[in-house]
Amino acid sequence: MRDTVHWHALTVAETLERLGTSLDGLATREAERRLQQFGPNEIETAPPPSLLRIILHQFKSPLIYILLVAALVTAGLGEWIDTGAIFAVLLINAALGTYHELRAEQAIRSLMLYLSPRARVIRDGVEREIPAKSLVPGDIVLLESGIRVPADLRLVSTTALMVDESVFTGESVPVVKRPDPVPPETPIADRVCMAFLGTIVTSGRGVGVVVSTGRATELGKIAYLARAETQPQTPLERQFARFARLVALVVLVSIVAISSFGVLRGDEPALLFKFAVGAAVAIVPEGLPIVVTLVLAVSAQRMARRRAIVRHLAAVETLGSTTVIGSDKTGTLTENRMTVRALWAARRVISFEDEQLDPVPHLSFSALRETAFSDLPPALRVLVTGVLANEATLAHSEEIGQERAGIGDPTDLALLIAGARFGLVREELESIYPILAEIPFEPERRFAAVVSRIDGKPVFLAKGAPERILDMCSTWVSPEGLVPLDREAILAAAHQLAQQGLRVLGFAAGEIPFEHAERIESLLEPSGLTFLGLVGLWDPPRAGVREAIASCHSAGIRVVMITGDHAATAAAIADFLGIAPRSSPVLTGRELQRLSDEELRSIVQQVSVFARVEPEQKLRIVRALQANGETVAVTGDGVNDAPALRAAEIGVAMGKSGTDVAREAADIVLTDDNFVTIVAAVEEGRGAFDNLRKATFFLISTGAAMLFVLPFAVLAGWPLPFYPAQLLWLNLVTNGLQDVAMAFEPKEPGLMRRRPRPRREGILSPLLWERTLLSGLVMAAGTLWIFDWTLRASGSLDLARTVALTTMVIFQNFQVGNARSSIRSLFRMSPFSNRVLFAAVIAAIIVHVGALYVPLTQFVLRVEPIPLDIWPRIILVASTILAVVEVHKWLRRRWPRRDSWETSEVLGEPTRRPTMQPARQATPEA
Ligand code: ADP
Ligand code: MG
Repeated sequence: MRDTVHWHALTVAETLERLGTSLDGLATREAERRLQQFGPNEIETAPPPSLLRIILHQFKSPLIYILLVAALVTAGLGEWIDTGAIFAVLLINAALGTYHELRAEQAIRSLMLYLSPRARVIRDGVEREIPAKSLVPGDIVLLESGIRVPADLRLVSTTALMVDESVFTGESVPVVKRPDPVPPETPIADRVCMAFLGTIVTSGRGVGVVVSTGRATELGKIAYLARAETQPQTPLERQFARFARLVALVVLVSIVAISSFGVLRGDEPALLFKFAVGAAVAIVPEGLPIVVTLVLAVSAQRMARRRAIVRHLAAVETLGSTTVIGSDKTGTLTENRMTVRALWAARRVISFEDEQLDPVPHLSFSALRETAFSDLPPALRVLVTGVLANEATLAHSEEIGQERAGIGDPTDLALLIAGARFGLVREELESIYPILAEIPFEPERRFAAVVSRIDGKPVFLAKGAPERILDMCSTWVSPEGLVPLDREAILAAAHQLAQQGLRVLGFAAGEIPFEHAERIESLLEPSGLTFLGLVGLWDPPRAGVREAIASCHSAGIRVVMITGDHAATAAAIADFLGIAPRSSPVLTGRELQRLSDEELRSIVQQVSVFARVEPEQKLRIVRALQANGETVAVTGDGVNDAPALRAAEIGVAMGKSGTDVAREAADIVLTDDNFVTIVAAVEEGRGAFDNLRKATFFLISTGAAMLFVLPFAVLAGWPLPFYPAQLLWLNLVTNGLQDVAMAFEPKEPGLMRRRPRPRREGILSPLLWERTLLSGLVMAAGTLWIFDWTLRASGSLDLARTVALTTMVIFQNFQVGNARSSIRSLFRMSPFSNRVLFAAVIAAIIVHVGALYVPLTQFVLRVEPIPLDIWPRIILVASTILAVVEVHKWLRRRWPRRDSWETSEVLGEPTRRPTMQPARQATPEA
């Protein structure tokens, strides 16, 4: 029924009446009742991938294909036990893989819940934020730039509201919205008094009443499946898939080559063949794909715990190779909790820091009403302007003094609080100076204004960036009264405030012709106003940011500030935080505009502070950094930040203050808007890659050991050191869980002292290839030696094979420990710092030794108990791998390789400290 109503043809009053609501919003009780009636405001999303698909996915790897072929071959030969064993390996692998992939999937889904959209509504007459899911028809919704419209709305009022409706129309030019009704037959694209679910507010403000939700909305009707967020394969997963193909190929080729050689030499083909199959199973690192997914998922969860939500797993790895972080100032480096510190009017500075304010006449309401605006003391005129051209709302007086004294833009809030100290209350002021029109603040406009009726005439009251405001003025309020504008004097005063790290706003007022009073568009560039004064606001730097920036520098990561604020303010804060010394150059948006891409490319290498930057210019800065080969993480919160967020390798959006548009364009979202969190995420990203490398090194080096044993035995004309079934067993007790457990390794302490990982560096670093070769040889030699020795000493081939197998099992479980750090000694790490791994290793050894005594496994594996006197020999031989790798680590700490990420930590390379060359002083823009 509701669907047939032409809401766009009704007047606002009719709409409100039919929906049984008012501008005060619904009562909570009534909203709950309607939620029952209409259901949640959701459109079904694509279902998660089915279990079957996830299970099948586990078999999609060349490594697994080898195992499948091996199973077929053994089945063809009628070796059912071997076939069974290979299938056991496959099943265990698929089960583990499925389990971990489900977990990863779930982890990402639950992270997405953090990011589910919210809506600002009025309920019970007060403004609040609720999950967009619980919107109901009749709710009053507030819109501002950057919001994705949360339901279908009939607009009640608009202020320069522009909406991008490309979801429907494909037309990305934003349309102007107005609350006036349109004829009933108007097509959707022209219903200017409606705002539809899924469209984007690009600028302005608006208030609308919800007319339909969920499936009943226009978007819901076109049965649009909300973006099915399947996780695409990450670059790292692709890199690993390539690597896996390569490994599979190497294994196949070597086994075929060696077997052919053996056959030519006259070995029994069937046995050789079975051995080759077993060897393939033992060598192939079939767990690798699981480890990749698991490590990324574990790290995504670790990041979430540190308040960084990744929107897709690929972000985890890219974060780890970040070389430059471009950060906003306000809200990210600072707290975005503004307080007015100083007010400059008629060359007099009033300091707000002392409780005892300079005497400014504190006018009563009636005195205010009686005095002409132009007769008010200059400081009061500044404050009146600040309170009227203001979008925040002060909380009731009893709530003031608590953390948040109201809602809205912190700059605006600070002005309301400052006004209140002089008895200037917005409601009272509005009754004296009724507001006729308003221009809301947009970052690219850099000012906000209202038109009020003052002393019977429309007066434009503006506040914003001082240069911007000065451009509108021709006179100013000097100590001598109204005189022609002295731009230099005012800019000098602004500069003085800015140098103390204060955000500076200028204020102006001026009469405008009546005919302009209500046409906002004609008001955007007023002139002939009177400059009233300046206000300096203090926004404290966030705790911990200084330390986080220092840690970036020692991690070889540059930090660059990109702000819309004044150059001097930016320079002062940058100096305080250690981003760049005060004397270092600051590039302003205006200067940037004049540079060619080439020039900008060379300048971004020296400049760390960008001020008065337009959001669009952020994109150019990101591109210039990328052209220099940097991996860039950049923060953003506004609508116009989206292109930069998308272009950067890592787009970082603000979870609290950011817009929906920025969040949707980002790769990670900070739930606390804090710079420190970015650095934490980078650290986790580095840790993820490090763990992946450790697991890979372990798998590849143990595989290499097997790969070396095989040709040697064949070429030397020895009996094969293992039965084929033993090779399958070996695979189980050495790689079954250990590789996966590597995902839970804690981060190494030196992680943030390494330089950023070059993205071109392969899966393993040269250092680890070196160690792979070395330890593969040691394990192969040790196993062959003890096999030969036992065979000679006992004359029993079965015992010699049992001993060789056991030695290899212990070798590989020792190698797990070696793999835990690339340069740190194993003996400096507590075995309990990765309990999963410790348990896996202990369990593997117990299971293996147990198997030597259990009749069933004795029969299947053809193993037997090992005499006590041989055990010390096994342990001794197996320990050589510990000794050799320890020595290699020590050598590489002494003589680090320059080409390997892991050793960059001990290289003590020059860190990327801020540039020190003295340059031109940050000057106020003229
Ligand atoms: P930042 O990069 O520090 O977040 P913004 O883009 O928010 O900077 O603001 C840029 C400039 O716009 C500020 O330096 C200030 O001069 C002006 N400004 C900021 N907030 C407001 C506001 N609420 N009203 C008027 N002007 C503002
Ligand atoms: Mg801002």
